[in-house]
Amino acid sequence: MADDVHLDSNVPGNPAYHFTIVPPGSPSRAGWAQRAALVPAAGLATKCVHAGVQPDPAYGAVMPPIYQTSTFAFRDVCQNAGYDYTRSGNPTRAALEEAIALLEGGMGATCTSTGMSAVLVALNLLPHGSHLLCTIDCYGGTFRTLEHAKAAYGLEVTYLDLADLAAVRAAFRPNTGMVWIETPSNPLLRLTDIRAVADIAHERGALAVVDNTFLSPALQRPFEHGADLVVHSTTKYLNGHSDVVGGAVVSPPGKVAMLQRIQSMNNLLGTSQSPHDCFLVLRGLKTLLLRMQAHEAGARRIAEFLASHPQVARVHYPGLASHPQHALARTQQKGFGAMLSFELSGYTPARVNHVLTTLRWFTLAESLGGVESLVAHPASMTHASMTPEARQRAGINDGVLRLSIGIEDPSDLVADLRRALDSLPA
Ligand code: PLP
Repeated sequence: MADDVHLDSNVPGNPAYHFTIVPPGSPSRAGWAQRAALVPAAGLATKCVHAGVQPDPAYGAVMPPIYQTSTFAFRDVCQNAGYDYTRSGNPTRAALEEAIALLEGGMGATCTSTGMSAVLVALNLLPHGSHLLCTIDCYGGTFRTLEHAKAAYGLEVTYLDLADLAAVRAAFRPNTGMVWIETPSNPLLRLTDIRAVADIAHERGALAVVDNTFLSPALQRPFEHGADLVVHSTTKYLNGHSDVVGGAVVSPPGKVAMLQRIQSMNNLLGTSQSPHDCFLVLRGLKTLLLRMQAHEAGARRIAEFLASHPQVARVHYPGLASHPQHALARTQQKGFGAMLSFELSGYTPARVNHVLTTLRWFTLAESLGGVESLVAHPASMTHASMTPEARQRAGINDGVLRLSIGIEDPSDLVADLRRALDSLPA
């Protein structure tokens, strides 16, 4: 080894410091492996920065290289460095998977091309002829996929308010294999007691799956409450910059077989995420905690403002003491998040349109969780794929507006909303 190391240059005037260039892949003396071992017990801010990433063994890049390749050469017959084909595995994706698993407190993860493909990976764990219980006001795309699975694959689905534990118990059938929990739900910010529902699911031999997109592991860690799988649209807070679509399915601590099942399902369905997109999400993760703190500080101000405005009939935000499950939010979550919805008083399409078109800082757009604030009208946008009857059953009336609070100055956002609401005809 010593023969390969050649002296490159010295610090002028200080012969004590000899700089050498070592060949790519030379072992590092700095003990990065020891740092990796510290990450699981580190604070969340430290995890956001260091989870899944170590200086690259080839050149010491502090961010993992984007292994933009479909194919990996075998070193010899029956010998490779752990990767053969990017659908099945890729080092950049592996870094992101490790990071998300560490943040969630899970054993491992598999990263998917979109949040919907993460939903698909989880649903495909169910055997043929299964029944599933689902949050009544789930994301419209999840609803659409479940309805498709009902028609195409004979999946049985019951949508219900998972806060009603008696109804949850009563809804179980002998073939119930999964409870799909979105908490907080979209767009009405209803909460589910994960521990209570997971306990019921486990008594009946079913899996409790939590879509943790709305809060991210910075504000809620479902494995601490008994979840069997965590699903994410990483398009949202985990990436945080509205420049990527992606998803993740995370397996719980200690469940090797489950990790293998989700990884092989992602490979089988062909839904794995591109290395470049993985790199971007990994970059976004570094500031997850900081962003969530800023998002939430703004959301609290805005929720309080809306709750005091005469043109607003109701505000749905778990951080308000008036939210029916505020106490559960305090115990189950590490924060209240930055998604909220509100209902205009005296709803008419003209009044909704006035607000949507008067706002300036809030962009009229689907999605959520980016640094910029968005407003959406669920009935015509995110939840348009639900039938009007399903929306009505879920309590999503046409006057509901959903806000994703970004990290702008909250005073600007409040002023924008004030202008739109004050100018409504009385
Ligand atoms: N889950 C939730 C709660 C969502 O809000 C979304 C998208 O809005 C998804 C899943 C699907 O994610 P994607 O749009 O990345 O496919």
